[in-house]
Amino acid sequence: MRQYQIDPEKPVKLKKLDADAVGDWEGKKKAAQKQFKKLQKELADLQEILYAEQKRKVLIVLQAMDTGGKDGTIRSLLEKVNPQGVRIANFKVPSEMELAHDYLWRVHAAIPAKGEMVIFNRSQYEDVLVVRVHELVTKEVWKKRFDQINAFEKMLAEEGTTILKFYLHISKDEQKQRFLERLADPKKQWKFNPADLEERKLWDAYMDAYQDVLNKTSTAWAPWYAIPANHNWYRNLCVASIIVETLGSLQLKYPSPLQNSNQYIDFLNHEE
Ligand code: ADP
Repeated sequence: MRQYQIDPEKPVKLKKLDADAVGDWEGKKKAAQKQFKKLQKELADLQEILYAEQKRKVLIVLQAMDTGGKDGTIRSLLEKVNPQGVRIANFKVPSEMELAHDYLWRVHAAIPAKGEMVIFNRSQYEDVLVVRVHELVTKEVWKKRFDQINAFEKMLAEEGTTILKFYLHISKDEQKQRFLERLADPKKQWKFNPADLEERKLWDAYMDAYQDVLNKTSTAWAPWYAIPANHNWYRNLCVASIIVETLGSLQLKYPSPLQNSNQYIDFLNHEE
């Protein structure tokens, strides 16, 4: 799965990235789903230790075009995880209060505390994506943000935060199919916003902006993964594999066992 990690030395071209790819899992959807279920359980176990340990912090950033599958990814990833110790932070159009501060202000307030795993549904990267595409600030301003974000994430990493960033890559045609599905299903229509079609018109500008984000902000301390996301089952498998492998490498540990647990057991057994 590491094949999807962006190496800043080898800049990625999004046009060449196949959103339909399924790696070695061609024709093996059932097996992939089975493997994903195993990973869900492993993730739940790792998160339990992360929470018990109360030392490390884990930040997972999700970015995608509309219908890209951020919500579905979050739902399936966390299906078996104990909701305590996990938090989702959504970044929407900034409030007046947020706009009155620097763009990282609201982001910093949402980062994980010790023992916590936080998923960012959109993130600081909106400030070099939508903000750039809609020219909400000048180029001079957003250009500086790549370095600023790298420095911010470096500080978080040095302070004990493990950061993983996922861009879920769908094709423009897949987005059309997903919008059509939403519109055809009364139970899904609430997810549709006519403004999404205005954004769709800006697809190429968004791809340029995403490409810059991936190539300028994938670092050793906060790598980006560009995940083929036309097939939900493959997307889930990739994201879960990378998270489980990374958490596994942290060598998380339950706190040391109590020295005097026998004393407490004795006490409880001899209660009046
Ligand atoms: P989602 O699409 O993630 O389910 P919404 O439909 O509420 O959630 O969309 C949130 C909107 O907020 C998106 O259009 C996104 O581009 C926008 N947004 C997020 N951050 C910013 C920002 N810093 N500046 C302007 N718009 C932003």
